[in-house]
Amino acid sequence: MSERPRFIMCICTGECPGFSKLDLWKLINFVRNELDVEYAIVHPQLCVDDGERFLRDHLKEGKTNTIYIIGGCDPRLQKKLFKDVFKEKGLDVDKQLIPLDLRNMPTEEAMKKVQETVERALKG
Ligand code: SF4
Repeated sequence: MSERPRFIMCICTGECPGFSKLDLWKLINFVRNELDVEYAIVHPQLCVDDGERFLRDHLKEGKTNTIYIIGGCDPRLQKKLFKDVFKEKGLDVDKQLIPLDLRNMPTEEAMKKVQETVERALKG
């Protein structure tokens, strides 16, 4: 079996109307308790300076196949925002980042989307 993926929920400061339907703690506790992830964490805003510093610390240096699933905004935007830090750590953003758009989604739907993504990541 592949290495367990890591899940980071980027909650866009908690003020973004795009996440108003989402019960953050229900989602994150479901992911960490029910899904086969290494762990699940919440970050308030990955795309600003402290978020980038966090990712730089958090991502495992090169030569790993660890998959990082990031719940947040538009996947293309996420790739654009995070590609430099993935590259800096020697990681392949196209293979090791799975960005998920969880905006404007009720909690159950977001849970299902993360579950399907984790299951796919585990199958490799
Ligand atoms: S990465 Fe996306 S979801 Fe996260 S704070 Fe930035 S805009 Fe919001």
